[in-house]
Amino acid sequence: MIGQTSWGLDLAPGLAVKTGWPLATDCLDILWADDRPQVLRQLYAGKVFCRMSFPEAAGYLVTLRPGAFPADQAETLQAEVMAGTVPAALPEPGKQFLEFIESEAGEVDIAQAEFLVSVGRGVGEEENLSQVKALAQTLGAALSCSRPVVDKKWLPKYHQVGTSGKSVKPKVYLALGISGAFQHLAGIAGAGTVIAVNKDPKAPIFRAAQYGVADDMFKVIPALLEKLK
Ligand SMILES: Cc1cc2nc3c(=O)[nH]c(=O)nc-3n(C[C@H](O)[C@H](O)[C@H](O)COP(=O)(O)OP(=O)(O)OC[C@H]3O[C@@H](n4cnc5c(N)ncnc54)[C@H](O)[C@@H]3O)c2cc1C
Repeated sequence: MIGQTSWGLDLAPGLAVKTGWPLATDCLDILWADDRPQVLRQLYAGKVFCRMSFPEAAGYLVTLRPGAFPADQAETLQAEVMAGTVPAALPEPGKQFLEFIESEAGEVDIAQAEFLVSVGRGVGEEENLSQVKALAQTLGAALSCSRPVVDKKWLPKYHQVGTSGKSVKPKVYLALGISGAFQHLAGIAGAGTVIAVNKDPKAPIFRAAQYGVADDMFKVIPALLEKLK
């Protein structure tokens, strides 16, 4: 099992070629059937979920999308560590390593947050974000958002949830003014309880939510802040 990261994407195909083991990339879950793993993957940018099985092999390689599901409480398992030798006669690399530039990490890693207050285009104006930030702060939650909020440069990219942002797995996801496009919902498949506030009762986000308020978020936020006080 390898992370679906830039390093993992370099390593996994090389290992697959070297070992001859089948590889499935960007997996969201690992299941078990017929004595071998099956994986859950998304197709068409998250519109379709598919369960894939492997041909029988001596081993199987999987890259997993970070934050796709919460870790199980670990039992005490003893893994056997097997040291391998790097092949001596490696060919000259065709590319040269210059420097590693860390991407902008942000004040908080939304993929690790347990409670997310997430804001969408329904916030209307950049200045309205202060109300959402106040709510997140009062609740002790991290702030995340949908893509239009990033496209408008109201929040930096590291806040974005979805197929072209991050997958998140908070215990609680409070979505404010987010319609629930499939590219967004694909990023919250691992979330625990989803609570949606949207003034359109037919918004698709309500199909992904356990609790919903079909009302104006600017009525709900002050009422919630008042109650929390
Ligand atoms: C290749 C590709 C990748 C993409 N990747 C992502 C991604 O990673 N993440 C992502 O989020 N999107 C992504 N998108 C965009 C996605 O398709 C949607 O356009 C986007 O998610 C919509 O964001 P939204 O819900 O904030 O806005 P909208 O769809 O415009 O929804 C705004 C919602 O706010 C509600 N609203 C308005 N005012 C209020 C109010 N006062 N109170 C309460 N509710 C209100 C409206 O009823 C509406 O439902 C991607 C698109 C493509 C093509």
